[in-house]
Amino acid sequence: MSKNNKVIIIGGGASGLVAAIFASQNNDVTILEKNSKCGKKILATGNGKCNYFNSDFTSVHFNAENIDKLETIISDSNKKKVMDFFDSIGIVPNIKNGYYYPMSNQAISVREALVKECEVRGVKIINDCEVFDVNYNDSYEVITSLGNYTCDKLVISTGSNAWIKEKSIGYDILSKFNHKINTVTPALVQLVGSGNFLKKWNGVRIDCDVSLFENNKLIKKSSGEVQLTDYGVSGICVFQLSSFVSKGLSQNKKEVIHINFIPWIDDFISFMDNRNNILKDRTISEVFDGIMNYKLSNTILDICNIDYNDTWESLSTDKKNELYKNLTDFELTIVDTKGFASAQTCRGGVSLNEINPNTMESIIKSDLYITGELLDCDGECGGYNLGFAWITGIIAGEALNDTNKAD
Ligand SMILES: Cc1cc2nc3c(=O)[nH]c(=O)nc-3n(C[C@H](O)[C@H](O)[C@H](O)COP(=O)(O)OP(=O)(O)OC[C@H]3O[C@@H](n4cnc5c(N)ncnc54)[C@H](O)[C@@H]3O)c2cc1C
Repeated sequence: MSKNNKVIIIGGGASGLVAAIFASQNNDVTILEKNSKCGKKILATGNGKCNYFNSDFTSVHFNAENIDKLETIISDSNKKKVMDFFDSIGIVPNIKNGYYYPMSNQAISVREALVKECEVRGVKIINDCEVFDVNYNDSYEVITSLGNYTCDKLVISTGSNAWIKEKSIGYDILSKFNHKINTVTPALVQLVGSGNFLKKWNGVRIDCDVSLFENNKLIKKSSGEVQLTDYGVSGICVFQLSSFVSKGLSQNKKEVIHINFIPWIDDFISFMDNRNNILKDRTISEVFDGIMNYKLSNTILDICNIDYNDTWESLSTDKKNELYKNLTDFELTIVDTKGFASAQTCRGGVSLNEINPNTMESIIKSDLYITGELLDCDGECGGYNLGFAWITGIIAGEALNDTNKAD
C-alpha cells in the first residue's frame, strides 16, 4: 500500500528520530543526518547514562516565552505517550529521585532502540548527509552534500547551537521562511568569573547554596555541589542558573552569584568559638581543617587579608565578620559562559508563539514542522530537555499522520 506523503526530517537526533517513528505509519519518511550515525548527542547525555525524563515534568522547570503553549505541549496525555513509547521500544526505566535512566544505565541502549525502531518501521535514514539549504516551490527542496531531495512535508530537527562549534543550520532555514529567532545563548553551561584568586580554588568541589543576582535583583536560587575552577564555577547547581546568566549577559546586565559555602552552619561565630575551644592552640588555618578544603579556606583567608598563622581569638570583630561574609555570601561577578561548544542546551530560538502546540507545525509556513531545541524553550538539568525533544517529536509525528488522514 502506498504511503500518503513524502516527509523529510532534517536531523536524526532525539526529536527527529521520534518524529520519524511516529510519522512513519502513514508516510514515506526519510531522515537526513549529517553524522555517520543518528543520535550521537544522546550518547553523551546523563554522563553516558541518558537521563531521559523526569517524574516532575512541569513548566516550572522550563524557560519559555509562552507558558500556555508549553503546558499544552507537556500535557499529561503527551507525557503518558512518552512513557508508552519507551515501553514499546523496550526501554525499562530506572528511576532515581524522579530522574529516569534506562535500566541498562547506558545511553547507547536508548540510541540503538530508537534507530532500530526506525528500521523496523521502514524509515529511510541517510547518514553523512549535511543539509545546506531548503527551497520551496510547490514542494520542499532540500539541498544537501549528497544532492537534492524533495518532499511534501518537512520537519526541522537540527537542534540548537549547543555542543557544536558552528551555528545550527535550522535557524537559517527557519529565518528564510520568515520565522523570528529569539536571541540564542548557551544554557546548562559553566560560568566564567572575574578575580585573580580563581587559580587558588581550582579543583575544589563543595555543597553550596548559590543565589543569582541580576542588576542587584535576586533572580534564582540553586543548591548542590559546585565545582570551583580556574575560570569560575561549574556543576549542576551552577548549570541551573546559567540560562538566566547568559541571557542577561547578552543584554549587558550585571550578573553576580552569591555563594554560601557553609549552608550547614547556622551561627558561624558561635560555631567557630566552640571549635576554637575544642581545638586549643590551633591556627585559623588549622581550625578550618576538617570542615573545608584547604584551597578554599586559604583563598578566603587571603581575600580577607588574614594570616594563616593567626588564631581565631586574635581576630578583630570586623575581621571575623568579613570572614563570615565571604564564607556565607561570597560574591563572584560572572563575565561570560564557557560558550556554545560546552553548553548542553540553548536559551532562545523559535518562539513557541510561532508554532501550533498541537501539531508542532509552523503557523507561518504550512507543512513545515519544528521540534526540539530549535524552539525557544530550555529546561533545567534532570531529563527536561530530552523530555521536551521526545514530546515535540511525538506531537509532530502524530500530526503528520493525522494531516494525511484528513487530506
Ligand atoms: C553533554 C550533554 C549532556 C546532556 N545530557 C542530558 C540529559 O541527561 N538529559 C536531558 O534531558 N538532556 C540532556 N542534554 C540535552 C539533550 O541532549 C538535547 O536537549 C536533545 O538532544 C535535543 O534534541 P534535538 O532533537 O532538538 O537535537 P539533537 O539531539 O542535537 O539532534 C540534532 C541532529 O541534527 C543533526 N544535524 C544538525 N545540523 C544538520 C545538518 N545541517 N544536516 C543534517 N543533519 C544535521 C545533528 O547531527 C543531530 O543528530 C545533554 C546535552 C549534552 C550536550
